[in-house]
Amino acid sequence: MLGRVFRMSAALLISGGRDSAHLLSWWPWHTVLGGIGVGIFVDYGQPARVREREAAHELCGTAGVPIVVSTINRLRRNAETDVFEGRNMALVSAAIPYALEYGCDTILIGSCRDDFDGFPDCREPFITALSDALGAYGLKLDAPLLHTPKSRIPRTTGAWSCYEATDEPCGVCLSCRVDRNGA
Ligand SMILES: [Zn+2]
Repeated sequence: MLGRVFRMSAALLISGGRDSAHLLSWWPWHTVLGGIGVGIFVDYGQPARVREREAAHELCGTAGVPIVVSTINRLRRNAETDVFEGRNMALVSAAIPYALEYGCDTILIGSCRDDFDGFPDCREPFITALSDALGAYGLKLDAPLLHTPKSRIPRTTGAWSCYEATDEPCGVCLSCRVDRNGA
């Protein structure tokens, strides 16, 4: 596999949602010799984890990308802001062993511009600092959608973005509100 030989493939943090689903189909066209080497779904106790995991498996299966599941014992959800504190740092840390195992040089995260307000760990200073830190392991972090508004990110069939464990998107959680604003 070229990506493995030249270490140009990416390990994608896939939540099963709209942004990472788009990266899954878009990234291979963006690189010349690379591609998605592995999709990493992280179970951090989020209410919609079963639904999200199903979506992530379906999306990776369709794309022909291997998927692994990593479990984090506990993250704290701020009751006022809906934010799982420390989430993106924990997600990226969880991705490190798989990125290395699958010969990837990049960890991809699907943060987009509409996440700026609600999620401090979706902003450029955080992404840049964390990418610098990953250099210690020969890796870097890339958030290709960081400056892309949600409205320019196409919806992918089978993606699931709601935080809640409901049959249909709840429409009121932070993720649903951001998704609706970018409809
Ligand atoms: Zn929702």
